[in-house]
Amino acid sequence: MKTETRDRHGCQNCGKRFAVVYHQVDPDEPARTVSAACPHCQAPNRVPVASSAATGSEYWTERIGS
Ligand SMILES: [Zn+2]
Repeated sequence: MKTETRDRHGCQNCGKRFAVVYHQVDPDEPARTVSAACPHCQAPNRVPVASSAATGSEYWTERIGS
């Protein structure tokens, strides 16, 4: 069963908060660092996601707050 994981980050460029969302199959799955675009300023941020999500690019970002 897949679990939707929501990791909160602060943008390395604009400092606003956003969430990286991905599905995790195995809670012990290793993480991989990927590039995710900040939903506020589109700057690429290096964030960890589950390795299967990284392989299929099955992750996205959502704004937190305004
Ligand atoms: Zn940003």
